[in-house]
This record gives sequence, C-alpha cells and structure tokens, in this order.
Amino acid sequence: MDLRRLKERACARVDELAPALITTSHQIHAHPELCFEEHFAHDLLTSLLEREGAEVTRGAYGLDTAFDARSGGEGPTVVVCCEYDALPGIGHACGHNVIAAATAGAGLAAAAVAEEAGGRVRVLGTPAEEGGAGKVELARRGALDGVDAAMMVHPAGADLATMDSLAAAMLEVEYFGEAAHAAAAPQQGRNALDAAVLGYLNVAALRQHIADTDRVHGVFTKGGDKANIVPDHTAMGWMVRSARAPSLDPLKARVLACFEAGALATGCSVEHRFVSHDYAEMVDNPVLIDLYAANSAALGRPLSRVAGPGERVVGSTDMGNVSYLVPSIHPMIKVSPSGVSIHCAEFARHARAPAGDRAVVDGAKALAMTIVDLWVAEGALDRVKAAFAPPA
Ligand SMILES: [Zn+2]
Ligand SMILES: [Zn+2]
Repeated sequence: MDLRRLKERACARVDELAPALITTSHQIHAHPELCFEEHFAHDLLTSLLEREGAEVTRGAYGLDTAFDARSGGEGPTVVVCCEYDALPGIGHACGHNVIAAATAGAGLAAAAVAEEAGGRVRVLGTPAEEGGAGKVELARRGALDGVDAAMMVHPAGADLATMDSLAAAMLEVEYFGEAAHAAAAPQQGRNALDAAVLGYLNVAALRQHIADTDRVHGVFTKGGDKANIVPDHTAMGWMVRSARAPSLDPLKARVLACFEAGALATGCSVEHRFVSHDYAEMVDNPVLIDLYAANSAALGRPLSRVAGPGERVVGSTDMGNVSYLVPSIHPMIKVSPSGVSIHCAEFARHARAPAGDRAVVDGAKALAMTIVDLWVAEGALDRVKAAFAPPA
C-alpha cells in the first residue's frame, strides 16, 4: 500500500472540506458555550460529520453534548478528541473552536482512505475540558474501550510537540459561622470571613514548602454581605496542581488541613467539594509524537521540542487522563504570536483570525496523516504500543 499516496488523498480531502471546516470554527467561536452546555457546537459538528458520511451518535455515552462519529472498516481504531467548550467572560480564549474544526476535519479526511488503509477512526466529541473533565466521564462510560491510540491538537503561540501539563484538582470551599451585629454584639458572632482569610493565609505559608512544580491558587467568591454584619457564610474556589497525578493526593490533603485550621481557629465549620474528577498530567507517547512531528514538518510546521521564550504553555487538560489509558498526544499548533498566552482575550481574537483558520487546515492534515501512519506504516502502531508507559 502506498503510504504517501494515501496521505495525499487525506490532505486533498481536508482541502475540499476547508471552507466548511473554517465556517464551523467561526460559528463555534461566535457562540461560546461553557462546560456541558455546548449544544450549539454539538449540533453543528454532528450535522457536519453526518453530512460528510460518518456514522454519528448524538448525546453519546449518556452525556447530552458528547458525540461519537465513526468511519472506516476493520482495523486499528484511532480516536481524535474534539473539544468545543469556552471560558466564562472571554469566550474562545483557549481556541477550542480551532480544535473542534481541525479534529472533525482529521476524522473525515482519514475516513476517506480508511477502507483502503484498513482502519477505523472515531471523532469523539468531548465536552467540558475547561473544568468538567468530560473525557474522564466518557472514559468511565466506555468511550475508550478497544481504542488503539488517541490524539488531538491544541492552539498556542507556537508549534510545539507538547504542553507542560500538570495534574490538577478543583474544589469549592465554604465556611459557616454565626451572624451578629459587628459593633453591638461581636462576641455573639463566629466570623466566616476570618475563617476564610486564615485558610487562605495558611495556604500562603504552605507554598514555601511544596515542590517547585506544585501550584495552589484560589479566589474568594463570597466574602460577606455588609461590613456591620459578622459574615456567617463565605466561599472560595481553589485549584491544586502537581507535576504528576500520584503526587496530587498528598498535596490535596495538606491544602485541606489549611482550610480546616481556619475553621478551628474561628469556631466556624468548613465544607469542601471537589467539582470534577481530578485531571492527570499528559503522558505524551514519544513514538506517536515523532510521527505527528514529521507530518507537521512536511506541512511547513516543524515542532519545537523545547518551547522558546514566551512560548511555553503550562496548564492542565483532561487529555492527560486519556493518556493514562491509551497511547496519546496533545501537540500545540501556532495561532497567535509568541508571548500571547491562552486564556486571554487577545488569544480569542487570534483563534478566529486567518492564523486560526490555517491551524484548522494544517492541524486536520497533520492528524489525518498520523492516523494513516498508524494504519499503514510498517510497525508504527506496534512501536507506539511498545512505548506506552503510563505511571503506575
Ligand atoms: Zn483552556
Ligand atoms: Zn484548551
């Protein structure tokens, strides 16, 4: 089988689909939707995938805004993870509109040669990457069973082989005290704001004595109602991050002790709730990223293995959890000038500008060619599987 000719056909299919893919990217960008509320994007993407020949399940695995679009015949199954959620206030500042269109295009392009190449491709619609851990929920419901490899591409300020990812947990913390008149009867009060402030400061003291790569950061989301009323209820949102999933649990325990100490000191009570499954760090498959890097370079986008000044992307992604289960990659594709960070309003503008559109087309091609490699290149999938080594 002629690998090069199959790749050319897949790329030609991306070119044919490009106007529809770019329109899809722009439409999703114009309708930002938050975690598990991505109905517009779900309907738009499933309509496109179905119209272009995929076998589509809407609301897949019991999640309203997830989908599964299957193509191809017998052979190894490759999943492309399609993300399409946005951020509160700043819309598509993570550029998931580009991911959505690029991964849909990759799936359809690979589908065009799947029968001949002998493989199966699924575009898995994975909602709620920004805090809802949609991929973890999908995996628990069987979405990755029997999958040989998974991949996606994420916008950034540079073409990078990997993101510097951290394992992460998100939690809400609430303190409950006793309200009282702050001047007339303060002795009757139990101050939930004091409790929260002390909890915050305890974490600040803890930070000196944690690993360089650990991150703990929080905000007050409710601080009380009026200065002359002792606050009886306050709330905070926190994220706890560590280099690897195994070191996250001990750090979470130390952070929770900080919050409890604030309650103990003030006679208040504290409650906490983890708002989603924990995110694992990304374990990039080295063989799979080499295949992707060669395909990206062939498109004129050589990947940096080490990010240059202002290019490094540090964050957390639920693709990390996928990478613990099947061989996976999460390369970054340039849509903005270096130095413009994801999660800011300026990045959102680049995600629907011509550079974002080029990333849709090139991302789709690079992913599709990598899928073809897994199906056809001699020994490629075996080497990817041999290199699969998630932490125990
Ligand atoms: Zn993001
Ligand atoms: Zn993102």
